[in-house]
Amino acid sequence: MNVPDIIIAIDGYSSTGKSSFAKQIAKEFSFLYLDSGALYRAVTLFAMRSGMVSDGKTIDTARLSEALGTLDIHFEHGEGGSHTFIGDECVDVPIRSIEVSSVVSPVAVLPEVREYVDRILVEYGRAGRVVMDGRDIGTTVFPDADIKIFMVADDKVRAERRLKEMKAAGQDADFETVIENLKSRDYIDSHRETSPLRQADDAVVLDNTHMTPEDQMEWIKDLIRSRYGD
Ligand code: C5P
Repeated sequence: MNVPDIIIAIDGYSSTGKSSFAKQIAKEFSFLYLDSGALYRAVTLFAMRSGMVSDGKTIDTARLSEALGTLDIHFEHGEGGSHTFIGDECVDVPIRSIEVSSVVSPVAVLPEVREYVDRILVEYGRAGRVVMDGRDIGTTVFPDADIKIFMVADDKVRAERRLKEMKAAGQDADFETVIENLKSRDYIDSHRETSPLRQADDAVVLDNTHMTPEDQMEWIKDLIRSRYGD
């Protein structure tokens, strides 16, 4: 299928399968995949390791803002897909821990952090032919994205998917902790002042509760065909 050099923005609630779908799209159409949540997670991991987070929730905003001036967080795209780095360390695994998951939303509320992440995303997105996933891609980062998708799925299905993903990565967690974490992140993400999570007016909703990855691929191909032809 011939897909033009467009930007695809995928937003939605936590663990609705945004990243999996975005990766699938990137592979199928040879697009660059950008996981904005990974950048927020990497900033959070950096802040935790640097002792800027106390009581698991109080963030030393002044120190973090200053550190962002020289912080090197970037993606490396290779054979195995997209990887997130802090300096020369690949942090794909530690940024997915439940500890990082429980602090990331308060960190992502900070306007300085959002500006830092947005700058990185806009730079990568300049060339087009990218698919990005997050919470505010279609509303704030790329308001002119050609295709905007807003993903939703049933709470229990989301928690089960996340749990499975964590177990596969060798991380310990129970269903209750995971579902609580999803709900609390959704709440913080939707209620923050700067770029809250919301559906862009021109986004198409995808509820994938009962869909397989193959169904999703057919769905996006139909959408692209309906806009750009074959
Ligand atoms: O996508 P993921 O669940 O890995 O994102 C982790 C957290 O990063 C989200 O819960 C949200 O607080 C924050 N985030 C955001 N804006 C984005 C992407 C992620 O605020 N565009």
